[in-house]
Amino acid sequence: QDLTDLILSRIRDVADYPKPGIVFKDITPLLGDHEVFSAVVEALADGLRVDKIVGIEARGFILAAPVALRAGAGFVPVRKKGKLPAATLETSYDLEYGSAVIEVHADAFAPGDRVLIVDDVLATGGTAEATVELVGRAGAEVVGVSVLMELAFLKGRERLGQTGLRALVVV
Ligand code: IMP
Repeated sequence: QDLTDLILSRIRDVADYPKPGIVFKDITPLLGDHEVFSAVVEALADGLRVDKIVGIEARGFILAAPVALRAGAGFVPVRKKGKLPAATLETSYDLEYGSAVIEVHADAFAPGDRVLIVDDVLATGGTAEATVELVGRAGAEVVGVSVLMELAFLKGRERLGQTGLRALVVV
């Protein structure tokens, strides 16, 4: 069985979550399966030469931290506003209703650090796009965005422009 099939077999569709009409991709069955979780971390870390891995709160943390260890890189959290204790840089981005603010510690990167951004699911791409901008402003060089799953029908890839996107599975 190839990795795509293994991943797809361990991601569950949950209808009407978090709101009516949304089909949520639930990765908890995958995280609970040692073989598949390990294979995902290996695939995301394969061939990486970066200084830091950025994880996006909250499910991004779960993937990004083991990828950082596997790739010999540091881990940096990007969090919702108000969660990081020291001086931060922030950016806001639009959601379907309203907006969100995310932050990173201002001293998280050395100038020119090569950085990969990791998250679980790319949907509209708004979160990843904002994170690319934030990490760039913090002095790092974003070498790409990697996700477990891309929801292609939402066209998030188009919002990332020049920044390379890698998805282990595309639905
Ligand atoms: P976007 O900003 O619309 O691309 O949404 C991506 C963010 O929302 C990521 O941080 C995901 O963790 C989360 N997200 C959106 N849809 C799903 C889903 O179906 N399953 C899990 N996370 C999702």
